[in-house]
Amino acid sequence: MNAPLPIYLDYAATTPIDPRVAEAMIECLREPELQGNPSSMGHEYGRRARARVEQARAQVAAAVNGRPECIVWTSGATESNNLALLGVARFHADRGKHIVSSKTEHKAVLDALKQLESEGFFVTYLKPGADGIVAPEQVSEALRDDTQLVSLMHVNNEIGIIQDVGAIGRICRERGILFHVDAAQSMGKVGIDVQAMCVDLLSLTAHKSYGPKGVGALYVRRNPPVGLRPLIFGGGQELGLRSGTLPTHQIVGMGLACEIAEREREADVARICALRERLWTGISKLGRVELNGHRTQRVCGVLNVSFHGVEGESLKFALTDLAVSSGSACASASDAPSYVLRALGRSDQLAQSSLRFSLGRFTTEAEIDAAIAAVTREVERLRAIAPATSPAK
Ligand SMILES: *Cc1c(COP(=O)(O)O)cnc(C)c1O
Repeated sequence: MNAPLPIYLDYAATTPIDPRVAEAMIECLREPELQGNPSSMGHEYGRRARARVEQARAQVAAAVNGRPECIVWTSGATESNNLALLGVARFHADRGKHIVSSKTEHKAVLDALKQLESEGFFVTYLKPGADGIVAPEQVSEALRDDTQLVSLMHVNNEIGIIQDVGAIGRICRERGILFHVDAAQSMGKVGIDVQAMCVDLLSLTAHKSYGPKGVGALYVRRNPPVGLRPLIFGGGQELGLRSGTLPTHQIVGMGLACEIAEREREADVARICALRERLWTGISKLGRVELNGHRTQRVCGVLNVSFHGVEGESLKFALTDLAVSSGSACASASDAPSYVLRALGRSDQLAQSSLRFSLGRFTTEAEIDAAIAAVTREVERLRAIAPATSPAK
């Protein structure tokens, strides 16, 4: 009954946990002395748990070149994005009600912005170029006297392109406008430096970087402080910005995952880049394939490819040997073509016939070769049976 598992090429949806991280979390769950509430500083159990939480806070802060007191623990990047956008917009509503973002953001940004629109805010959604990049000048041109916030992602989860957040951050800083960056896909793939990038708020998550699911962080600049209205009220943890008992083991896992990601980034990137090149070279031999997103301004692990001459649904059904994704995990429950590829100008049909291969720390050369073989076999088979009148060229 147990069919062999497909090859996992879906690291942009989530990564397997790094065994070193799992080990640290298990130790944390096992040690009686770490079972206290990190907020109960009146006894040794609480203080020992707190020490671990603060160590992890320092690890996450170091990985983004920020100060530990700027890190607020959350349940993941979805919550971080919501806290950043709803929190800033509501706190600063008297400064103006205009926000600038883009059409290719993650749903956790787009849906939070939709909520703000229903509260009377006005959002400009920039349309990136065909390569997925938002030009800094597009941001300058969109700014108005009543703009209070710009929110753009660092690395796009579907196509892997890297936005020039440093240039955009400097524009915002000059104009006194707050800048939020969704960096859920960045850790360990591209350097994150909240100082150099002039970022005021930055969303992180552990599970895209070999850490556990269900924990993340929001970096919030403290000097000068960014005003933020909390979403969750209660015990006043995290300086009142996010009440609730801190999950020590989750936080320890995220801290270590970030430290490893940053320490091993160069080696990881070099190895994964070589594997991605091997995959692209293999797939492009098919002909009539197109790489989606900027050719060079991109992270190593994501390869999003459109296949001409095949029907999207059939392609997805055919590739049972591979755990790949069409669009993002969060949106792929629906069969609608990717809104990211649509925003880049791909037709509905071509967007449907696109696959995102995402590679990571544990991907092997043998897996890449097997993936090339499976894709080649199935695309050739589907093209051979495609009706001659197929509108997909
Ligand atoms: C995965 C992802 C999120 C959501 O993060 P969770 O931790 O799963 O809530 C947000 N933004 C981007 C760009 C992502 O890739």
